[in-house]
Amino acid sequence: MKIVCLDMEGVLVPEIWIEFAQRTGIAELRRTTRDEPDYDKLMKFRLGLLAEHKLGLPDIQAVIGEMGPMAGARAFLDDLRQHYQVVILSDTFYEFARPLMVQLGEPTLFCHRLEADAAGRVVDYHLRMPDQKRAAVKAFQGLNFKVIAAGDSYNDTAMLGQAEAGILVHPPENVIREFPQFPVARSYAELRRLIDEAAARI
Ligand SMILES: [Mg+2]
Repeated sequence: MKIVCLDMEGVLVPEIWIEFAQRTGIAELRRTTRDEPDYDKLMKFRLGLLAEHKLGLPDIQAVIGEMGPMAGARAFLDDLRQHYQVVILSDTFYEFARPLMVQLGEPTLFCHRLEADAAGRVVDYHLRMPDQKRAAVKAFQGLNFKVIAAGDSYNDTAMLGQAEAGILVHPPENVIREFPQFPVARSYAELRRLIDEAAARI
């Protein structure tokens, strides 16, 4: 029995914070873990900016809803789900992902949670657990699934390494150089072909 685990941002939908910064014109929201390696500091900084600009959860969700998935993502995912069990593993938050999940046909998503107050202001965030992508793959293997995992960035390499087959999806050049053991897909057609090949092999 095989299961496919997909990263979400950079694979099926745009990078949410970066796209959100562009759409709202709040340039400071482009800050990522590359600029601020302390994730907690980065998140508190982001939540502070949202409060400062008076953006509550409904406003944020409206902006995210306009982003839409990447071109071809819905058709790729619909077809994939007819042939495999698919779970999306993401380090985003359910509240952010919600409008995009609706547009992707409500696939199963494991991620983290935001806390909003009654007025819709985002007051805190809760990571379900650290290193959750790799932990999920490991748990599926414990349930006797073989796992094919695909993602685009550093935060995916642990799950790609844990899976029976790992695939990079249009990753940056530095990730390709550092992780030459993973095959690279640059389109949904290529990704599907690599998934099918892995499924036949593992
Ligand atoms: Mg990603």
